This record gives sequence, C-alpha cells and structure tokens, in this order.
Amino acid sequence: MNRQNCDVKKCKLLKEANDRLNSYQLCAEKSLQDLSALNTLYEQRVNELSTIINIFEYINSVKDYKNLFSIINDMLLGVLGASTCTIFTYQGDGYRVEVSSLPRKKAPVMDSVGNVLFEKYLQRKEAFIITESEFREDFNVRDGINSAVAVPLAGKNEMFGIIYMEHTKKDYFLEERCRYLNTLAIAIRLSLENARLYSRLEEMAYFDGLTGLYNRMFFNKEIDNCMGNLKKLGLPFTLAILDLDHFKNVNDTYGHLCGDIVLKRVADIVMNEVRREDLVCRCGGEEFAIVFRNTRDTESIYNRLEHIRKKISEAVVRYQDSEISVTCSFGAVSCTLNCKKNSSEDVMRAADEALYRAKGEGRNRVCMIIS
Ligand code: GH3
Ligand code: MG
Ligand code: MG
Repeated sequence: MNRQNCDVKKCKLLKEANDRLNSYQLCAEKSLQDLSALNTLYEQRVNELSTIINIFEYINSVKDYKNLFSIINDMLLGVLGASTCTIFTYQGDGYRVEVSSLPRKKAPVMDSVGNVLFEKYLQRKEAFIITESEFREDFNVRDGINSAVAVPLAGKNEMFGIIYMEHTKKDYFLEERCRYLNTLAIAIRLSLENARLYSRLEEMAYFDGLTGLYNRMFFNKEIDNCMGNLKKLGLPFTLAILDLDHFKNVNDTYGHLCGDIVLKRVADIVMNEVRREDLVCRCGGEEFAIVFRNTRDTESIYNRLEHIRKKISEAVVRYQDSEISVTCSFGAVSCTLNCKKNSSEDVMRAADEALYRAKGEGRNRVCMIIS
C-alpha cells in the first residue's frame, strides 16, 4: 500500500469516527434534553405533591366544619388561579351552594349550574373538563367565562359534593390540571370528613344523655359568652339555677329509675316554657340552669320563673302504681348594665347564693337578685 492510499484510508476512518462522534453527541444531547424535561416534570410533580401536603396539613388543622368550605374555596382560587370557584354540597335529595367566590348578587347563577351538575353529571367520580359544547348547551354561561372544570368530592359510597371552577381563558383547565385536581379532591374530601366527624363529636360532647339538654360544659361556655357580651356590648342576661327539692327522697322511695323519669319530665316542662332564645342546660344531678339572653325586663323574668316553678309543682309523674310530684327552688341573678360581677364564676356564685336563700326560706320558691 502506498502512502497516498494509506492517507485516504486514514481520512475515511477519521471521517467515520467523526460522524459517529457527532451522532453520539446528538444522541447525548437528545438524552440530556429528555432528562431535563423529565427532571422538570418530576420537579413539577414534587412541587405539586408538596403543595398538596401543605394544603392537606393546613385544612386538616381547621376543625370548624362550616368555616372549612370558605378556606378550601379561597385556597383553590389561589392555587389554581381560577376566575371563580364554587363548592356545592350534596344533601341526599339535592345540592346546596355551600360557598362561592361570586359576589352575593351574582351567586344565584350558580343554582342553574348546580342543577345541571347534579342532574347530568352526578355519576362521574373524577374531575372533568366541561367541553365547549357541554358548556354552551347545558350550562348557563355568562359573558367572559370561557372554560370550566368540575371536581366531584366523592367517597367510596358517598357523594359529598362538587367543586366547580371557571376561567375567563379558553382551555384553561387541561388534563394536567384535572390530574392535580383529582389528588387535591382526595385531600379535601378527607379533611371535610374529618371536620364533619369532629363537629359531630363536639356536638355530642355538649349534650346530656338523660334529658337531651345541653350539659355543664356547654353551660360554662355560654355563661362566658354572656359575660363577654355584657362587658363588651352591654347586653344584659339572667342566670337562673333550678334545684329540685328533697329529690333524694324520690330516689330513696321509688328508686333511681323513677328519679330519672322525673328528671326528664322536669327538663321537658322547662323546655316547653322558655323562649327559643333562652338556653336550658342540665348542670348536673338534679340541677338545671336557664340563661335568659339579652333581657332587660327582670320583672317579666321573675314572673316566668314563678310560672315554671308552678308548672313543675303541678305536674304528676305516674310510676308503677304511684303518682309522684316534686317542687323546685330557683336561685337567679340578673346581670344588668351596672353589674359589678367581673367573671362568670362570680355570676354563678351569686346564683348559688340566691338558691341557698330560696332553700333556706322554705324551698318551692324563686329568689332573684339584681346585680
Ligand atoms: P335539696 O332540697 O336540699 O336540694 O335536697 P335534695 O335531696 O334534692 O339534695 P341532695 O343534694 O341531698 O340530693 C340530690 C339527689 O339527686 C341525690 C342524688 O341521688 C340525686 N341525683 C343526682 N343525679 C341524679 C340522676 O342522674 N338520676 C337520679 N335518679 N338521681 C340523681
Ligand atoms: Mg342539688
Ligand atoms: Mg335538690
């Protein structure tokens, strides 16, 4: 092989190597681009996940079921950048607009949206973009609104409600956002379920099992509220404590079961005789409390207590072959604008003192002090 041939061969080899290098480089660049796109996608997913975790932690810390809807609505508007957001809740036989970012005056348009969502789309379990034709045919679209999405809040066997979002931009809600919304919807539904259970438990914790009246825990809260309203807003109130007279004798003579029936009857009488705005609690044992809220006319309250006292003394409880009657004593304190009491404990102490006086003066009477 002469030198020229050798050079040509070398050149050819070099060119081949160069071409191969170029193609490797292209391939590497393509892989790098793919990797970087994947990286961006993963970063985006990680961001979405961490947003969802933050949202979940935040909304799970809210225990007030009613408030939670507004918080979720505001949060969705912020995270998704939607123009409007409305949450409908399912009530078994229909839906209700639970919260909407629309101004009150425009909110009624959501009723027609709710009608369509619950009549035509209730069976859907995942977020769905409302197509332009659906949008035009089924929904009563408003000027300026060009895309919408609905996100069912559905459990395994239960329909909680639907989130409905709109945007002024066309095609704002894409498949990608739907995927994100579906994950968010799971977090939202769990938080709503938790808050609902919590508020039910809280409610149960405030009731007395025997009479169905509010219990001591609720009573304490209410007296604190009344005291706050008196000091801040000047709203007067009266606290009356009712204690059954010689109730131990009823238990001792007829048994505890009979005593319970008498307690229930007394609770019913009191409940029948008070106004809707008054509060009746069983403070414990054979003691009840009535809180007359925002009442200035102490004489009329005194008369009402007298009336209740008489009703209780006239009632007859039939138990086995016996007819049982009980009387009660009332200790009441009326906290007016000039009230010198500083705390709810002071008010309760004053009512107890009045009750002690009523008992001391012979029972079956009302003793009321104006503070
Ligand atoms: P007084 O006129 O001084 O109030 O006399 P009293 O017998 O009513 O008062 P006392 O405090 O000595 O007794 C209260 C009784 O109430 C004792 C208790 O057996 C009864 N009691 C408390 N809680 C219940 C209850 O849930 N069911 C029944 N049946 N009795 C109860
Ligand atoms: Mg007592
Ligand atoms: Mg008693």
